[in-house]
Amino acid sequence: MRASALLIPTLKETPADAEISSHRLMLRAGLIRRVAAGMYTWLPVGLRVLRKVETIIRQELDRSGAQEVLMPFVQPAELWLESKRWDQMGPDMLRLKDRHERDFCLGPTHEEVITDLVRREIKSYKQLPCNLYQINLKFRDEIRPRFGVMRAREFLMKDGYSFHTDQTSFEATYGEMHDCYGRILTRIGLEFRAVLADTGNIGGSTSHEFQVLARSGEDRIAFSDGSDYAANVEEAEALAPRDTRPAANEPLTKVPTPGKHTIDDVAAFLDVSPMRTLKTLVVTGDSGPVALVLRGDHELNEVKARKLPGVRAPLTFASEAVIRAAIDCSPGSIGPVGLSLPTFVDRSAAVVADFVCGANEDGFHYTGANWLRDAPLDAAHVVDLRNVVDGDPSPDGRGQLAITRGIEVGHIFQLGRKYSDTMGATVLDSDGSTRALIMGCYGMGVTRLVGAIIEQCHDQDGIVWPTAVAPFGVHVLGLNYTRSEEVRQAADRIATALESAGYEVLLDDRDERPGVKFADADLLGIPHRIVVGDRNLKTGQVEYRTRADPASLLIDIDRVAEHIAAAVQG
Ligand code: ATP
Ligand code: MG
Repeated sequence: MRASALLIPTLKETPADAEISSHRLMLRAGLIRRVAAGMYTWLPVGLRVLRKVETIIRQELDRSGAQEVLMPFVQPAELWLESKRWDQMGPDMLRLKDRHERDFCLGPTHEEVITDLVRREIKSYKQLPCNLYQINLKFRDEIRPRFGVMRAREFLMKDGYSFHTDQTSFEATYGEMHDCYGRILTRIGLEFRAVLADTGNIGGSTSHEFQVLARSGEDRIAFSDGSDYAANVEEAEALAPRDTRPAANEPLTKVPTPGKHTIDDVAAFLDVSPMRTLKTLVVTGDSGPVALVLRGDHELNEVKARKLPGVRAPLTFASEAVIRAAIDCSPGSIGPVGLSLPTFVDRSAAVVADFVCGANEDGFHYTGANWLRDAPLDAAHVVDLRNVVDGDPSPDGRGQLAITRGIEVGHIFQLGRKYSDTMGATVLDSDGSTRALIMGCYGMGVTRLVGAIIEQCHDQDGIVWPTAVAPFGVHVLGLNYTRSEEVRQAADRIATALESAGYEVLLDDRDERPGVKFADADLLGIPHRIVVGDRNLKTGQVEYRTRADPASLLIDIDRVAEHIAAAVQG
C-alpha cells in the first residue's frame, strides 16, 4: 500500500492533552482522532491494528466453542427494569427516548439482552451449554474519560455470556474462557497476569481480571512472592496483624494542632510516625454517617468499605456540613475518642497503642490515646478496610505481597443465577424439573487493548508493534522517491515482490525529506524496514533493520524477500 494514498496524519508535536504514552502515540501516529470527550474516530492505520486484535480474539473464541452474535447497541428500558438495573446503573448509563417517548439506553453491557434471547430460544438442557459472544460498541458515560481509548465513553468490547444447568458445566466453560483469554494475550505478545477481582455492579460472586502490566496502569495488583496468588488491590485481603496490641503506656493528652489537618502535617508537627496516628473518615450510611478508622499511613479500600453492613453503596464521603452537624468539627479533626457515630476500625488500626488522633474539636488532637481505655473497640467492628501494601503477608499464607500496576483488558465473572432468576431464564432439566440457568460473563476491551499494547510496546521515538498486530509487516522507505527514477523503480519492485510473497507492505512514496520518513517510520512502528536510497543502489543494495533494533545491515536487492522471510521466522 502506498503511503501517499493513505490518510496517515502523523504529528511532530506532542498533543498537549494526552497524559500517557499510548494516548500521545495514537494521536501522533495518526491512529485515532478525538470527536468528543471519550469518543474517537479510528483512522486507516489504527483500524488495521484494531481489526487484527479483533481477528485474534474471534479466532481464539471460535476455537473454544463460543458462537458469535450481534446484539443492538440501543436497548429498551423494559429489560433493564426487569433486571432491576435501570435505577441501579446510575449516570454511567446514557438514556434516551424514541419518538414515542419510550425509554432506551445506549448499551453499557448486554446481560439483559442476552438473557432475554436465551430465555426465549433455549428451552431444554439438551441445548446447553451455550456460549455466545459479540464484538460490539458499548457506551458508558464515564465520569472522567481519559487516556484516549483506555477509558473512553464509546468503546469496542468483546462480551460473551455462557449458560448452564449445572455448576460443573459452568466451571468447565469458565476455565476454558480463562485459558482462551490467556491465549489471546499471548498471541498478541503481551506480558499479563490473571488476578482475582471485585465484581462491581455486574454482580455475581467470583471474578478474574486480565491485567496487562504497565507502569501507567490505573489498577494496582498484588502478587505473592511465595505462591501464585495474584489479586487486584481492590480485592486483596489485608490479614489481621500477628502482633497483639501493646499495653497503654502514655496518658491521654489533648494538644493544640492549629491549622494541621492532614496526617502528614499532624505527624510532622507532633514528631510521630504516621504509623502511630489514626485517621477517621466519615461515609454515608443507611441511617446516618458511619466512621471508618485507619492507621494514618494506610489507604482506605473503597470496595471493602462499600460492602460493610449499614454503609451505602456506591460509597460516598459525608460532606463537611454533615460532619459538622454530627460531630461539630472539620473532617481533619475527627477521632474515635468520644465519637458517637457507628464506627468500623481497620484490623491494623486496632493494634496500635498510644496513638495520635483527632480530638473532634477543630485545632486539637489527642496524643497517648488507647483503645478500650479511651475509645470503645468492639471486636465485631474490627474489619479489613485498607489497601494491602508492599510487604504485607499474602492472604493465602504463603509469601509476601508486592504491588505493581496493570491495565485491565479483560474481566470474567461468575454470575450464578442473578439474571436468570430476576428475568426468569429457565430450562427443562434432564430429570424433568425446571431450572434457572447458571450464567458466566466474559468481557474484553478491544479498543482498550490497542492502547495497552502501545503502553507496553513503545520507546522514546514511537510505537514498536508486536508482529501479530502490526498494521503492516514491512515498511519500505523510498528516499528521494519522487526525484530519483532508480529509487522509484527499486522501491516499487521490492514492494510488489514482498506483497506477492504475502507480506503487508507500506511503501513510503511520499514527497518528503528522508528525516521525515525516518521519524514517521519510528513513530508508526512497523516491525521490518527496508530503506531504498541512491547511494546503496549503486552497489545493488538496500538497508534493512527492525523497528526494535537500530542496527542495520545492507542486503542485495534481489535477496530482500528471502531476507524478510528469514527475519519473520526469526
Ligand atoms: P474499569 O474498572 O476499568 O472501569 P469495568 O470493570 O467497568 O472496567 P467491565 O464491565 O468488566 O469493565 O468491562 C469489560 C472490559 O471492557 C474491561 O475489562 C475493559 O477492558 C473494557 N472497558 C471497560 N470500561 C471501558 C472504558 N471506559 N473504555 C474502554 N474500555 C473499557
Ligand atoms: Mg468501569
